[in-house]
Amino acid sequence: MSEEKKAGKGKPRKSATSATSATSGTSARPSRAEAEDAVRVLLRWAGDDPAREGLIDTPGRVVRAYEEFFAGYEVDPREILSRTFSEVDGYDEMIVLKDIRFESYCEHHMVPIIGRAHVAYLPEHRVVGISKLARLVDAFAKRLQIQEKMTAQIADTLNEILQPKGVGVILEAAHQCMSTRGVHKAGVSMVTSRMLGTFRTDPSTRREFLAIVGNPGAMSVANT
Ligand SMILES: [Zn+2]
Repeated sequence: MSEEKKAGKGKPRKSATSATSATSGTSARPSRAEAEDAVRVLLRWAGDDPAREGLIDTPGRVVRAYEEFFAGYEVDPREILSRTFSEVDGYDEMIVLKDIRFESYCEHHMVPIIGRAHVAYLPEHRVVGISKLARLVDAFAKRLQIQEKMTAQIADTLNEILQPKGVGVILEAAHQCMSTRGVHKAGVSMVTSRMLGTFRTDPSTRREFLAIVGNPGAMSVANT
């Protein structure tokens, strides 16, 4: 039961290999057939019969769905930001991409966390195409996550690679592990943020960011 006493939570890892190697005994990726067998076990655990007609193809579908759900392990978030545009022509105002919808998965229950990310930075020398910010969010979302860790990973990676004057990241999300099980509270969204550089030290920068984003938490995040 509590055999997984992993000393320290460790730093968020950036690649699939380092993440899996940190987990004892699971370093080798199972085969597709093994993964499908595991789904059959869970179907039986749920009380159903994996051999009945409607479920015959389910293990294959689930395993393919997992490839989508967890595509982030195949992506190097640093790589996404590596192509930067340094010609900003004197632009030194805040860049904000707001309402980036994401789908992530709670690492405690493996059920969806669905929400929106607002990502901002104040460029120093480098800017990136805004689609890169959305891809950065996905790279961390498409993994097993906790929202706090994901928020920090997005902000820290942006800060490390772009070296801007400041970074602000806000995530608001609904956790299905809270709405469909446990306390069964729907319509609740969790808001997390990480402010770095001028977003942390300069109240006017932070205020500007919050004003652009609106009032996180006041916007509803659908629980579906
Ligand atoms: Zn959970």
